[in-house]
Order: sequence, then C-alpha cells, then structure tokens
Amino acid sequence: MLPSDQAYAYSKQGVLVELDTVKPQGIVYCETPRDVSTAIEFARDNDIAVHTRSGGHSLAGWSTGQGMVLDVSRLNRVSVGHHTVRLGPGVQSIDALAALKPYNRQIVTGTCATVRQGGYISGGGFGFQVRKFGVASDRLVSARMVLSDGRIVRASERMHSDLFWAIRGGGGGNFGVVIDFEVRPISAPRMVYFDTLWPWDKAQEVITAWQEWCYSGSNNLGSTLNVLLRDGAPGNVPIIKINGGYHGPQSEIEQALNELAAEAGATPSLRTVQELPYDEAMKAVYGCEQLTVQECHRAGSNSDAKIRRTPFLRERTRLLDRPTGSSGVADLLAAFEANRRPGHITYLYFTALGGVANEVPRAQTAYVHRGAEFFVACATLLSDGQPPAEEAEAAMVWPTHAFNIIDPLSSGESYLNFPNPDLGDWRQAYYAENYSRLVSVKRRYDAPNFFRHPQSIGS
Ligand SMILES: Cc1cc2nc3c(=O)[nH]c(=O)nc-3n(C[C@H](O)[C@H](O)[C@H](O)COP(=O)(O)OP(=O)(O)OC[C@H]3O[C@@H](n4cnc5c(N)ncnc54)[C@H](O)[C@@H]3O)c2cc1C
Repeated sequence: MLPSDQAYAYSKQGVLVELDTVKPQGIVYCETPRDVSTAIEFARDNDIAVHTRSGGHSLAGWSTGQGMVLDVSRLNRVSVGHHTVRLGPGVQSIDALAALKPYNRQIVTGTCATVRQGGYISGGGFGFQVRKFGVASDRLVSARMVLSDGRIVRASERMHSDLFWAIRGGGGGNFGVVIDFEVRPISAPRMVYFDTLWPWDKAQEVITAWQEWCYSGSNNLGSTLNVLLRDGAPGNVPIIKINGGYHGPQSEIEQALNELAAEAGATPSLRTVQELPYDEAMKAVYGCEQLTVQECHRAGSNSDAKIRRTPFLRERTRLLDRPTGSSGVADLLAAFEANRRPGHITYLYFTALGGVANEVPRAQTAYVHRGAEFFVACATLLSDGQPPAEEAEAAMVWPTHAFNIIDPLSSGESYLNFPNPDLGDWRQAYYAENYSRLVSVKRRYDAPNFFRHPQSIGS
C-alpha cells in the first residue's frame, strides 16, 4: 500500500490516532512466510527501514515509522494440536476465543480484545490468568521466525535455544519477524467474572485493602483496580472500579469480595459476579459482552467493527514488588486530585501480577520481572488526537507527578509491552541482568541491526 493508494490512510493506522501523522513509504501486507522473506529482502536491498506490525498497539509507535511497515496481521490462523495450539502473530485476543471454543481450549491473553499475539507474547503477556497460569511467553513451546538474512527458523528449547530464550520477554521488533507461535493452552473452561464499583470517599481504604487482598490472595484471582476521572472539570467525581476473573468456584470469590469490603470498611455501589463459559467471561473482560466477535474489532477493520482507537495518551508505568501501603496510596490520590484538568481523562490503574509467574527464575527466560506483584499505570487521555501544544504538555503533568511518587516504591522495573520513550534507564527497567545476554543473541541473529527502534536491544 503506497501513499497514492486510496486505502493508505487506513492502512497506516495503529491504535493511537496521534500517530496518524507518521507517513511510512509503504505498508506491506504479508500473507505467507515467503511474503515476509521477500519484503525483508526488498527492504534490505533498498536500504529501507522496516517496522514489524501485528496489531499496532505499541504505545511508543515502534510498529510504524518512515520506511516500510511490514504487517503480519493477516497471518492470523489458529490451529489446534494434541497438546499445543498454533497462533499466527496476527491473531487478536477476541478471535482466539472464538477459534478455540469448539475445541474447549483457552490461552493466556490480556484484557484488550484487539491486541495481537505478535507483540503481546514476545514482550511477556499478562492478563487475569497470570497468577494461575503464568505470563503468555512462559507457555511458548516454539516460534517460527524470519530473520534479517531471510532465513526461516524455528526456535524452541532444542533448536536455536538462545533465540527461544530471547523471544520470551525480549520483545518484538528486535530479532526477526515471528510468523507462528506454538503455545501450551490453559485449562479454564469456565471463569467467574466480577465487576465492582466503590465509593470515592473511601478511595484510600479501598485501594490499600485491594492491594493486600491481591498480594495475599489465591492464585485463582486475577484483578485490576482503576481510578478513573472521565473529565477533570470541577465537581466531577472519579470512579473506582475493581474487576477481574476468578478461576475457581463463584462462592469463593463472593466470600473474598465480602472480606475485601470488610477490610476496606466500604460497600460497593455495584457488584456483579457471574460464573460463565470462558469465552463469555472474557468477552465481559473486553467490554464486548453485547457485541459479536466481528463488532469487537477495531473500527474500520470490517464494516461491523465498533472498537474505537485511542486518540492521545500520555502514560507512565512501573512494576511493584509489594503493595504501596496506605501512605503511598494517599500520596497518589492527592496528586490525582491536584492534577485534574477540565477536558482531561485521567486514570490510576493497577493490575495484580505474581503467583505462578513468579515461580520461574529471573534468568530462565528474557522476561525478568519475577518479583512483580503489581503493574501500575498513571495516564492522561485526550479526545483529540492532535491537541494544541499546551494541552499536550499539560497531559504529561499527572503521569510525571505520579511516576515520581511510584518510582521509589517500585522495583525500578518496567514492563516492555507498555514502552515509554521517557524511560532513561530502559535497559535496566525492561531487562535488568538479562540485558547482556539479549545483546549477544541480537548479535548472533541480527548482526546488521536490521530490526531496530529507539529502545531496541543493542541500541
Ligand atoms: C489498549 C491496550 C491494552 C493492553 N492490554 C494489555 C494487557 O492486558 N496485557 C498485556 O500484557 N499487554 C497489554 N497491552 C500491551 C500489548 O501487549 C502490547 O502493546 C503489545 O506489544 C501489542 O502487540 P501488537 O502486535 O498488537 O502491537 P504492535 O504495535 O504491532 O507490536 C508491538 C511491538 O512488537 C513488534 N512486533 C509485532 N509483531 C511482531 C512479530 N510478528 N514479530 C516480531 N515483532 C513483532 C512491533 O515491531 C512492536 O515493536 C495493551 C496495549 C494497549 C494499547
């Protein structure tokens, strides 16, 4: 797809509207492994930079840029074997559900319907299944990749084992183009989905209690807590939403929610708990329970698709090895209130991690965050993809302030799948002691540094 083509404007889009200003020389839609090799060869011979794209969710814009966008979204087959499931990099979370349902198989996915496997598994991959089943990359059995010299290799424990080590958490866009993932499915035919809203005047108690609740809770529990202010105009009150998936009997999570309420000294204003077939529970997680699978795709991708893109986002994230404690929560809430601004959507978002994911040694795969108990994100969203400079600058104030509070309470590590160009210590934050081994793998498999972006391995 070239700039002169009618479909170019859509084809260059990723999840962020603000990145629509980026104008690649062309977008190459690959439908076979051979297409991928040919595209790489063409780019190499003509000295064109390549940006691999599966779902276009990279918040740092690493799947677009000047040069060629090498799109593998059409490599989206799902096939089921005896013990494993094969997924093309272009498989979206929502599509995996539908494709695997007839086989009564499930896999680890995140909480977003349209994220695709290409970036998600390569960077680690967590969701409500993480404490019981580990991160998605821990369940990888093998992956086929096209390398910068055009070779197609399969990486596994037995073949190209160092490459296999690296692509389990080392991140997309570094070593080659993954064209096929083979994963061990999970066994979760049913899941309890729960959704609760809590009073704002009990925010500090609720957030503090929720952190402890997850930290000492069962590995069956997956949960997020979101403090969300839809408009910072005076008088508007944030919501506190706690939701999640429970891989056990409904009665257990009902009881646990009672305990959370008692500990927080608060009563949720909304509480729904439903044990459902896994695909229905996950559709609720995605906010797609009222939509068909086709409708639960990014708007524009098919005529029924309804999921809107994110116009403009400024976000800082960190990983925490333990709860922040009540005083940390109080500081964050004070900053949240102090930085509200009319027209700005702001949030403070926690995801519970840990469990089985943390039973794996730090150096066993490139995904190093084996002490992480929480992922925390502090963000401003604007409804205009190209806001005036003053608004864009103001959007950084809350995430920056929050990051300065959370950083000393954190492990100093950050999750690569939420990349941040402002992270000075990104090598340490994303990879810690695994970084030097990643550099050796990079030298071995992509010596010319063909696959690169502003925070790629070896840069
Ligand atoms: C709204 C939203 C919700 C999210 N929710 C979660 C969540 O619940 N859990 C979670 O873990 N993460 C979550 N993420 C982060 C998500 O996992 C990452 O953005 C992931 O990298 C997206 O992969 P992608 O293929 O869709 O995006 P892309 O932008 O296409 O790819 C991301 C990176 O991987 C590279 N890449 C893509 N495909 C390939 C490939 N086939 N081979 C090699 N490199 C490739 C790209 O070059 C880029 O560097 C979320 C992100 C967003 C925007």
